[in-house]
Amino acid sequence: MNASLYWRPEIESLSAAQLRRLEAPLIAEQIAYVYANSAYYRQRFDAAGIRPEQVTDHASLALLPFTEKSELAAYQRQGQLFGPHQCAPTGDIIRMVGTGGSSGTPTRLGWTAKDVQAYDEMGARALWTVGCRPDDLIINCFNYRLYSGGIMDHSAFEALGATILPYGVGQSKQLLELLSHFPKQDIKGEYTLYSTPSYAVRLADLAEDMGIDLHSLPIRKGIFSGEPGLQVPGYRQRIEEAWNMRTCDFYGAAEVGVQSGECEYHQGFHFSSGGLVVAELIDPDSTEVIPMTDGAKGELVFTSIQRQACPMIRQRTHDTVQVFTDPCACGRHSFRFNVLGRSDDMFIVKGVNVFPLSVQEALLSLRPRVTGEFVIQLEHVPPTDIPPTVCVEISNDVPITEHQSLIQDIVAVISKHANFTPRVILVSPGSIASEHKTKRLYRVYEGDQTPALMPLTMEA
Ligand SMILES: [Zn+2]
Repeated sequence: MNASLYWRPEIESLSAAQLRRLEAPLIAEQIAYVYANSAYYRQRFDAAGIRPEQVTDHASLALLPFTEKSELAAYQRQGQLFGPHQCAPTGDIIRMVGTGGSSGTPTRLGWTAKDVQAYDEMGARALWTVGCRPDDLIINCFNYRLYSGGIMDHSAFEALGATILPYGVGQSKQLLELLSHFPKQDIKGEYTLYSTPSYAVRLADLAEDMGIDLHSLPIRKGIFSGEPGLQVPGYRQRIEEAWNMRTCDFYGAAEVGVQSGECEYHQGFHFSSGGLVVAELIDPDSTEVIPMTDGAKGELVFTSIQRQACPMIRQRTHDTVQVFTDPCACGRHSFRFNVLGRSDDMFIVKGVNVFPLSVQEALLSLRPRVTGEFVIQLEHVPPTDIPPTVCVEISNDVPITEHQSLIQDIVAVISKHANFTPRVILVSPGSIASEHKTKRLYRVYEGDQTPALMPLTMEA
């Protein structure tokens, strides 16, 4: 065993079978605990005709109903602070954060001191996987106001022993000025940017406007989370070239606290939350469990097995993934996964399943005429034969005389790579990327508010 591979070798180096043996009693204990302490879980298990004693291992977990975050959010809107799955008294809860991304009312999550410790542990394991070490200095550009990426991830970096600069979002010019004064050789580790990938792009554009050469800064590494996109090679390359940095992709599921990172071989996220969270793969339509075999595709479902405040039992993530169980070149043997898309974000046009990621991939082939930023507006209830509108950000130096031919090229690449023919609107540079998570899909037919964009040219 190569101990330096892992933050917690005694758990992370276990084989899948050894891990299952360690987790089985924890599953039984967690299920008995939620049944005893939450009327919500008790009623749901009773309605399914399942006694907690029947759930003693991974296979029997599948007897239980799923938990949907949206359902818990509905209880919160009716006046409950954390929701009906709260199992620990509020006096034991030491931290409240929210989830929910860039729009809508956030769902509140509570954590006891032991829950925070478990979150930090999962974070430290995943950060170790992406190569983060105690000598590194991290600039955290996630939102500290409410969201997990701020205070929760901050404490995971601290648990690992790294030096962390809590910057948060906003005041981007001041951030670039601050970074431009960092000494180059004064730390043994690496200066590391921690943000969404689209924020790294936004900072790069801003640096250009300010006349700051990012290559002259000491930031040589970026850990990116909060939104997909880094697995699109052109997008990753764009960030790496703009900053002259190595990039690592990072996955987080805030409700259960799972964090997963990719190793230096970029072969998917290594699942490293063993002993604290159990992962299942399901068919999102039939909800049947899919065996975790090499190459299998399905939706990830997570169950916390040592959670006190707000345990999540079989929580549907709506993340469609492909799993890999073959050994990774790095030597870690936990299963890995690639996120193919959020099943929430998928839509059907003329019978074809479309994920926003495939549109992103298509648009990147047209750089530098387009920036790569875009939003999709779904005006009609899917499945539909009426194509959605794709608003595409263009570069400063595309003359207006070339707009129509650029629109034709955009339609052609999206038709080829994403298999639908969009209506295209060109928008001015810098109007889409945000400091928070960049939302790609707007369901206008549901009343989803699209951002205020400045249309330049529409399809003729
Ligand atoms: Zn690996």
